[in-house]
Amino acid sequence: MLQVKKLKCGYRENPIGIGEFNPEFSWRIESDQTGILQSDYQIQVSLNAGFTDVLWDSGVVASANSIHVAYSGARLNSRQRYYFRVKIRDNHGNISTWSETAFFETGMLDPKDWKAEFISADQEEHPVYSAVSPYFRKNFAIEHEILSARAYATSLGLYELRINGRKVGDSFLTPGWTSYNKRLQYQTYDVTSLLQAGANTVGAFLGNGWYKGHVASWEENATQKYGSRVAVLIELHIICKDGSSQVISTDKNWKTSFGPILQSEIYDGEIYDATKELCGWDRPDYNDQLWSPVHEIKVDKKILVAQENFPVKKVETLRPVSLFKTPQGDSVLDFGQNMAGWVRFKAAGPKGSRVVLHHAEVLDSAGNFYTANLRSAKQTVEYILKGDGTEAFEPHFTYQGFRYVRVAEYPGEINLENFEGIVLHSNMEKTGDFTCSDALVNQLQHNILWGQKDNFVDIPTDCPQRDERLGWTGDAQIFARTACYNMDVALFYKKWLRDLKADQLPDGQVAFVVPHALTKAEYSSSGWGDAAVICPWTVYLCYGDKRVLEEQYSSMKAWIDYIRSQAHSNLWNTGFHFGDWLALDQMKNSKFNSAAGDKDKQDDYFGATPNDYIATAFYAYSTSLFVKTARVLHNKEDEAEYATLLKEIITAFHNEYFTPAGRLAIHTQTAYVLALMFNLVEEKNKERTVQALLDLLKENDWHLSTGFLGTPYLCHVLSQNGHPEAAYKLLMQTDYPSWLYQVTKGATTVWEHWDGIKPDNTFWSTDMNSFNHYAYGSIGSWLYQVVAGIEIDETQPAYKHIIFRPTPFQTFQWVKATYDSLYGRVSLQWKITNGKLEIVTEVPHNTTATIILTCADAAHLTVNGKPFEAESAVHDGKAILELGSGNWNFSCPYVQ
Ligand code: BGC
Repeated sequence: MLQVKKLKCGYRENPIGIGEFNPEFSWRIESDQTGILQSDYQIQVSLNAGFTDVLWDSGVVASANSIHVAYSGARLNSRQRYYFRVKIRDNHGNISTWSETAFFETGMLDPKDWKAEFISADQEEHPVYSAVSPYFRKNFAIEHEILSARAYATSLGLYELRINGRKVGDSFLTPGWTSYNKRLQYQTYDVTSLLQAGANTVGAFLGNGWYKGHVASWEENATQKYGSRVAVLIELHIICKDGSSQVISTDKNWKTSFGPILQSEIYDGEIYDATKELCGWDRPDYNDQLWSPVHEIKVDKKILVAQENFPVKKVETLRPVSLFKTPQGDSVLDFGQNMAGWVRFKAAGPKGSRVVLHHAEVLDSAGNFYTANLRSAKQTVEYILKGDGTEAFEPHFTYQGFRYVRVAEYPGEINLENFEGIVLHSNMEKTGDFTCSDALVNQLQHNILWGQKDNFVDIPTDCPQRDERLGWTGDAQIFARTACYNMDVALFYKKWLRDLKADQLPDGQVAFVVPHALTKAEYSSSGWGDAAVICPWTVYLCYGDKRVLEEQYSSMKAWIDYIRSQAHSNLWNTGFHFGDWLALDQMKNSKFNSAAGDKDKQDDYFGATPNDYIATAFYAYSTSLFVKTARVLHNKEDEAEYATLLKEIITAFHNEYFTPAGRLAIHTQTAYVLALMFNLVEEKNKERTVQALLDLLKENDWHLSTGFLGTPYLCHVLSQNGHPEAAYKLLMQTDYPSWLYQVTKGATTVWEHWDGIKPDNTFWSTDMNSFNHYAYGSIGSWLYQVVAGIEIDETQPAYKHIIFRPTPFQTFQWVKATYDSLYGRVSLQWKITNGKLEIVTEVPHNTTATIILTCADAAHLTVNGKPFEAESAVHDGKAILELGSGNWNFSCPYVQ
């Protein structure tokens, strides 16, 4: 039976508070037949669930599109629910019934819709603490029975919204982090069940967050990056069953007071004095006579945008696996996993006694609690008990990156049962899974996924623990493709890219970190600024989202034009660059070499591949992606202009970096990798270049020496150029430097440095030594794309046409990868047993696939149990088969 399922609007199921006038719809097709393609669809949008008031009927549209179908009916209103349903016909002539009804609800589509004003507490600072949370409240009455109610809220700083004694919604660190002065998200909540006819109270309390609190603590002006006063904006819209309605908004009639949160900072943690609790402050019968009046603050409502990505939520709860005493005598909890979030705990003790928790990622070589790599981030939670029985606590406006927790103070005996690790991150659906027969590689994939969870906390951060946690553009682009396999990150990147664009300088320069929260104008390194082009293109490829290209087009173009303005004779040989950040090749020749032990010198951060070489290579790469973008968007003029530019850059690259005889003059792993990956090697020089890379790897005893920019492509380049055995060899190394080295050292996330912990168990340095940086986790895309071989056809993105090109190798007995695409589940598993290769794949409906199998002997190839007949499809030992939707299995003799 043909059915339409999983209706989504803007990547979300039944979203409320969307900010678009022309949202896009998608659906999945279910059928018990195979080879299903959609031949037409019909979509209806109605003002009611009965579809008697249809606002837009697409009519029957002959189209295979089942993702990104844009609404094009009458103009949508603010704060209105719309219902939609879809019906399709397939290529076998089956017609579905109408799908189940889904809905979407708009938020404030026009800045003029807002009635509320931002309110703030008295301007004086607290005498002792710099980050005391102000509380705000307002009582009001509802006369009639409630039909429905919504709250729209945001803040300068972070907020928690409360109604009648309960937290509103299950999001945290709201309103998220954007380029606040230009874009501030508001959230929409269904609060119908929290309100009641009669007396009600709405309230909120605030934290400094990224707005006013510490950001990039090493800077001279590390606080108040966006403003000096936290403030909140709330608007409640209540509709009663009798048809009457009511709006309650923040205004000067609200009241404010300080409360129990004495200090709350993203990096430092929280100090909560329960003896200062304002008991019942968010309920109607509370006496607020001692509370103070508030001030209204003018903020241009034009900067308000609806929530754009999946909000940060409590996604998992981890139990500590052990409690132990360190040699120094500390009581330490081990959560068994390096995570981002906080600890929820219970304690009972006399009034004024304290619970003090410190958070850290690792223990030092002696087994002691180690915090030096956090730099100035205190990561400390302090709770002062009120002394009335068992008290439970978890922080509000902070989060910690940790595996270990030192319980520095605790009343009574420390019992594991009283502690839980709450994992917080943007609530993205997990879409990918990679497993294989090797336990270490499975742990590596686990670490990559956790690196993503821990660093996708509203923005893509470099790390979740030290006094940084910034949206480093380089890291975000390096990891983007891997991220897209593991989780549904389309909205996450789209939101962040809007901030990248908002913070871009008029001449096209891209900030090192987005949101740009550094005091100095720190802009424009190659490989980092290229996030402006690489990220939108990656989102387009993985999700088929043309809008991200449309939205970012001017930003992409401005970045290329900026480079063009800096380049001389088409070589980008000016300015500051991070280069092949943290590559190991510089150290080898440097006087600060690793054996000498002096690792804290700045020159160790930069790899040996020259900046101008890397910058020019990325200039070419970004330009090539921009040419493709212009083609997708049918901008012929730009396509032609930038294609010409690309040719010129490539010619300049050849002339500058290749000898007339065809030798690449820069002899580093990353140099070979970038040239090959970005198609910068002339065909006639290709073999020689690949061989030079192989020679260099061999010289290095088959170990990598690449940094941030070379690493993501290293294995890709080897397998693309006919040397999967070399790629596998690098992957499977377990000694330093390699991906699995850190796994053998017990890592549960991906390290910033190849030698974060050295073979003798000492640390690389205290200065920059995160154990939770996802950049090197970019090997993940090679596992999915090449080892399992689930690949995208650029001409039909989002897996509309899947390319299965598995790379079976005896390193593994079996591999299994799944990916939940917008169309449905794509999967491939392969198994080698007794010289026989077996492959099983899933192709979702409304997609097609091509599988390319290494198979010298077509006579022995079976497809779904039957001998394969189309001999003509075997060329050069490769069998190429076209597949429709459904499950397929193949078996053939294994050839390496
Ligand atoms: C971050 C990196 C970032 C780098 C710039 C570091 O402090 O943690 O991941 O990309 O600076 O080179």
